[in-house]
Amino acid sequence: MDKPKIAIHKFASCDGCQLAFLNMGPELLELAAMVNIVHFVEAGMVAPQEEVDIAFIEGSISTEEDIERIKFIRKISRQVISLGACASSGGLQALRNLADGDQWLRELYPEPQYIQSLKSTHPLKKYIKVDFEVWGCPVNTGQIKQLISSLLLGAKPQQTRDRLCLECKRQQRVCTLVVKHRVVKQQETGQQACLGPITAAGCGALCPSVGRACYGCYGLADNPQPHALSVRLEGLGFIGREIAQKLLMIHSYEESLQKEAQQLSAKQRDVL
Ligand code: SF4
Ligand code: SF4
Ligand code: SF4
Repeated sequence: MDKPKIAIHKFASCDGCQLAFLNMGPELLELAAMVNIVHFVEAGMVAPQEEVDIAFIEGSISTEEDIERIKFIRKISRQVISLGACASSGGLQALRNLADGDQWLRELYPEPQYIQSLKSTHPLKKYIKVDFEVWGCPVNTGQIKQLISSLLLGAKPQQTRDRLCLECKRQQRVCTLVVKHRVVKQQETGQQACLGPITAAGCGALCPSVGRACYGCYGLADNPQPHALSVRLEGLGFIGREIAQKLLMIHSYEESLQKEAQQLSAKQRDVL
């Protein structure tokens, strides 16, 4: 029987999620024995037009050419997997959707007329059907191995959407929402705005384990309740604009967070 064919495509991204494949080390060779990796530019295989069983896509859609390319990839791929926060939600580069993109181009590039980008950048799901999303910024190698194993066995990939706080508590981490160690200008000012209560578990509570607040890169947990979190953060002294920016930093495409951010901004305008 022919081995399943896999492709790994890149759009607007930092390449960090593709490294999850390269970081497999010797296991990448074992994977290559089970599947036929036909397109993976970072590893030297180039065949972007070839039909495949599974296409992993890193990055968000930022140009007209990207739209055509992602639609073509959908046509030639039996399953499409979005790889990482950029592909699943727009990621960090979608922050420009909240700003004046043309102004940024003028400020950043001496010849902005040569930059052919859309006014906003979006996740794959805006343009095509996505079969499965792998979250993280970056994703980790364990997620990739688990996903490929499931797909090769013909099983539906499992992904927990429990809250990160559960994982954090199981590891007995100090809660950054409770303990005061936010430092500004060498002054301890208070708790950090952690998105753990609305974020899906799976990263091993990486950021709280080093005393930092979660910014939500593993995607939203089931039933996330962003309003409850923003009320809690306001109670800790964070202002609406800070909370809105935090909510939208990774997830500017999520309607529930957009709505909460708009309400926070409107409330702040009323106060000022
Ligand atoms: S999700 Fe994060 S690590 Fe992955 S490509 Fe995007 S910016 Fe890089
Ligand atoms: S994830 Fe954040 S809010 Fe939740 S317990 Fe850990 S530090 Fe506290
Ligand atoms: S703690 Fe939050 S931001 Fe940090 S890796 Fe985990 S999900 Fe991502």
